[in-house]
Amino acid sequence: MQSLIRGPMWNHRLGTYLKLNLGNPPGGGCSWDCVYCPARSQRRRCGFASLDRLLEDLALSLKNSASLETVMLTGNADPFLHPEFADIVQGVRELRSKTNGKWALHCLSNGSTLDRNPVLCACEKLDQLWLKLDCSEERLFRQLNRPSGTARSFAEHVEKIKRLSSPAIQTMLWNCSEAGTMGNWTTENLRGLLELYKVLKPSRIYLTTMQYRKNGSQMSSVDGAGLQTFALRVEELGIPVDVNESGLVGMFSG
Ligand code: SF4
Repeated sequence: MQSLIRGPMWNHRLGTYLKLNLGNPPGGGCSWDCVYCPARSQRRRCGFASLDRLLEDLALSLKNSASLETVMLTGNADPFLHPEFADIVQGVRELRSKTNGKWALHCLSNGSTLDRNPVLCACEKLDQLWLKLDCSEERLFRQLNRPSGTARSFAEHVEKIKRLSSPAIQTMLWNCSEAGTMGNWTTENLRGLLELYKVLKPSRIYLTTMQYRKNGSQMSSVDGAGLQTFALRVEELGIPVDVNESGLVGMFSG
């Protein structure tokens, strides 16, 4: 049986961390269908990991992760869609207390169900919530993040994010040589994102670029210099920003 845990790994943003996959490998579930998502084909084989198994796998991994700094709820499913998301957050926190852990509990989500109060309450028990925000307007949002029927409009999605007082935001930026149809590294989108950051007042922003590309697509990573230049514009707004300059590491099909 495939483990639900990846790690320990290290990165600048999270330190030494474990990823807890709330999707049941190789399945999962998401309300979006982002053009860059390597889990897209797997997600069609839908399924979520059971609460008991998640906690068992995490307890085992914690025994081998002495200097852990972060546990991230993520994986090939959007964590908020897990029917027991609130219980998972509670269960992981209890496990942390029981094991005297000093690590922080983070979660990465697209935020599409932030209009549900139980999800919002569970978010308040996280040490850090990261929300994906790649696009600044309706057309690009539909074209690149491809939300399901749960998102009536991009404006509505922004209103959901506003329910949080100070979210952290993760933005993926990439190019496309295909007549600008499948990339968000455009002057208009960058300008729009800066406007949105001003409105949403995130506690910090994480800029990243494409690391996995669909076979045959024209999409490509943004180079490190480009990301750093945009990061300076974010910093001018007074918002702390981290940049992940790692470019393409693999391809996927589906
Ligand atoms: S929100 Fe995340 S899991 Fe969902 S399709 Fe996009 S990248 Fe994949």
